[in-house]
Amino acid sequence: MKPFAYLRPASVAEAVRAGAGNPGARFLGGGTNLVDLMKLGVESPGLLIDVSRLPLDRVTRTDDGGLRIGATVRNSDLAAHPDVRSHWPALSQALLAGASGQLRNTATTGGNLLQRTRCPYFQDVSKPCNKRIPGSGCPAREGAHRDLAVLGHSQDCVATNPSDMAVALAALDATVQLHGPEGQRTVPATDFHRLPGDNPDQDTVIRPGELITEVVLPPPPAGAVSLYRKARDRASYAFALASVAAVLSVRDGNVDRVSLAFGGLAHRPWRARVAEDLLRGAPPTGDAFTRAVDAELEEARPLRDNGFKVDLARRLAVGALVELTTQAAPA
Ligand SMILES: Cc1cc2nc3c(=O)[nH]c(=O)nc-3n(C[C@H](O)[C@H](O)[C@H](O)COP(=O)(O)OP(=O)(O)OC[C@H]3O[C@@H](n4cnc5c(N)ncnc54)[C@H](O)[C@@H]3O)c2cc1C
Ligand code: SF4
Repeated sequence: MKPFAYLRPASVAEAVRAGAGNPGARFLGGGTNLVDLMKLGVESPGLLIDVSRLPLDRVTRTDDGGLRIGATVRNSDLAAHPDVRSHWPALSQALLAGASGQLRNTATTGGNLLQRTRCPYFQDVSKPCNKRIPGSGCPAREGAHRDLAVLGHSQDCVATNPSDMAVALAALDATVQLHGPEGQRTVPATDFHRLPGDNPDQDTVIRPGELITEVVLPPPPAGAVSLYRKARDRASYAFALASVAAVLSVRDGNVDRVSLAFGGLAHRPWRARVAEDLLRGAPPTGDAFTRAVDAELEEARPLRDNGFKVDLARRLAVGALVELTTQAAPA
């Protein structure tokens, strides 16, 4: 085992100071991903900065009726929070669709957003992988890629982002608050994760030494309902083959507000802007939903063994929108 130093800072400022200018430092949340990667030899930090006990464990309402979620709020606590269950059910459902009860009790909001891909080659240090060692190659493209990307992948990487929570946050127009050596900034959840391009070693736009301090949800649109649906190989304890988070409101018999994000299909949660544009003002019918989702998925470029994901995603999304239509109170 490679020795490492361990620090438990008392404040955000101390945590950021400890991480600044130290590329071998890693923030530790619940450790459910980072510690696994250390055991596999994928990560070998020289310093672990344990942020799990920072006073960032509150969920509070914002003045405008949104929600402020501290980075160390545990996935179980967030899923069970009465405000989340009532007003942002897609988020509660996404969290409960992930991992297991024990893992959710430990995993944090910040760590969940930054969990690494489950591509088998990434986790196996005996194999090349551009994400782990830039320039070493991508064996998944010709190898085992059934679970990997159909949208937005590149010649250099076909990995998917594994987080269920991140998909809900993308559909709910959340923002991520960051605190780093150069100050604080806010990034929309839809822009937080990136597509792989020719530098798949970068999962997100986070800068060296930046700490996630909060996630903020805007108030839910008036009359809107939301849900999260996930398809996986087992009923629990399995990552998404495809998933969808959807938000819908209906006004005067037509779609008013809609947002749709896919999980399990790309290197980041895939916000379905093409489908959303086609749906705004359209009748909330199965045919209209199918046409819009098909238009979005025209961009899909499945690999040899994962074409089934496109049809799976279409069915999930259309089913979710039809289900929401029955829940949406006509305005
Ligand atoms: C068997 C198994 C099944 C799972 N199934 C699912 C699933 O179906 N769906 C799903 O979504 N997830 C699943 N997970 C993943 C799980 O949700 C993540 O491991 C967990 O959310 C990570 O949170 P954590 O706090 O433990 O992160 P950690 O492991 O502590 O950290 C993860 C990364 O985030 C960084 N980090 C942590 N906190 C911060 C912060 N505040 N600011 C900046 N960087 C930070 C760390 O440095 C590290 O790089 C599964 C995990 C396991 C082991
Ligand atoms: S898909 Fe990405 S993570 Fe997987 S082997 Fe290729 S480069 Fe590595």
